[in-house]
Parts: sequence; C-alpha cells; structure tokens
Amino acid sequence: MNEKMDYTREELEAIIEKSKRELEERLSKMTPEERAEAERKAQKAIEEDNARIQKILDDAAEYFSDKATKDKPKFCASCGAPSDGGNFCAYCGKPL
Ligand SMILES: [Zn+2]
Repeated sequence: MNEKMDYTREELEAIIEKSKRELEERLSKMTPEERAEAERKAQKAIEEDNARIQKILDDAAEYFSDKATKDKPKFCASCGAPSDGGNFCAYCGKPL
C-alpha cells in the first residue's frame, strides 16, 4: 500500500485530532496505576531521546571544534591509539 505523504493541513489536523481522541479513550480506560506507569514510561522514553540527541550534538560540537583547531586525525590509523596532536603516533611512531 502506498502511504500518502503530501497531506493537506486539514487532513493532518484530522489525523492529530483522531490520535488525540484515541489516546484519551485509552487513558480513560486505564486505572490510575496504569496511567502513572504509562506516564512514567513516556517520560523515560523522552529522557532517553533527549540524552541521545544531546550525545549527537556533543559529538558534532567536538568534531567541528577539533576540525577548526587542528585538521588532524583523532586516532592513529595504524594502531588506533588516540592522537596527542603531534605529527607522529606516540605509540607506534607512524605518521598521522
Ligand atoms: Zn599508532
């Protein structure tokens, strides 16, 4: 089945409204304990997503700041040791 990707604004709003109603219906059938558990899980998923996004941003920031200061590899291509910024690997002596 081909999923239609170019929704109109009205179609999108209808889909969002439908999802909201379905969610409210599911929530209304839950006991307070089940609701609390569902909210806890959702909160945990959000925190995990945020941590993942933050890690990607940190990695990107580190990558670009390294690139800006010195355009040298971070690790030795020969032995994999971390670079100390010199022209040769401090561990195996191969040029970086
Ligand atoms: Zn090396």
